[in-house]
Amino acid sequence: MGNLVAIVGRPNVGKSTLFNRLTQTRQAIVNEQAGTTRDRQYGKVEWLTKEFSLVDTGGWVVNSEDVFEEEINKQVKIAIEEADVILFVVDVINGLTDLDQEVANILRRCRKPVLVVANKADNFEAHIGSAEFYALGLGDPVCISAINGSCTGDLLDKILEVM
Ligand code: GDP
Ligand code: MG
Repeated sequence: MGNLVAIVGRPNVGKSTLFNRLTQTRQAIVNEQAGTTRDRQYGKVEWLTKEFSLVDTGGWVVNSEDVFEEEINKQVKIAIEEADVILFVVDVINGLTDLDQEVANILRRCRKPVLVVANKADNFEAHIGSAEFYALGLGDPVCISAINGSCTGDLLDKILEVM
């Protein structure tokens, strides 16, 4: 059984914050500026009696939407190849974007389990707002807050379920 879980998504949705939360480290660089995590970062996650590897995908600081898109598409393709489970992180505060749709278009065609992670659901109202992510066509969004840790245990349960 493979056990590599990859975190993908457009810049600034909270991928690195989630990586740090799940691995309980401060390894990944979290920044207010979009696109600041360099390349890829690997860590270990322990949950209940299980253990899996987690990879945070990044992207470099770039100013053009086109370069962003290219870089994200590249990272998503690597994730599809190497990972056993893909966490597709979106952001309930900023909502659904064209870039999210583009990533979803690639992920819908892959044969690996994909979990839509609706991050920044810091309170109950934000959970309701996450319904728009059903439009990605990748199933039920799992609402979490990577910053305050709420519902990350449910996410870990779901990861083990689909692994
Ligand atoms: P990445 O580019 O996807 O890796 O995103 P980061 O992890 O670097 O986070 C981008 C910004 O979103 C930072 O300012 C984080 O503090 C913020 N952020 C991350 N997770 C949450 C969350 O659950 N709630 C809120 N409100 N902000 C978050
Ligand atoms: Mg990052």
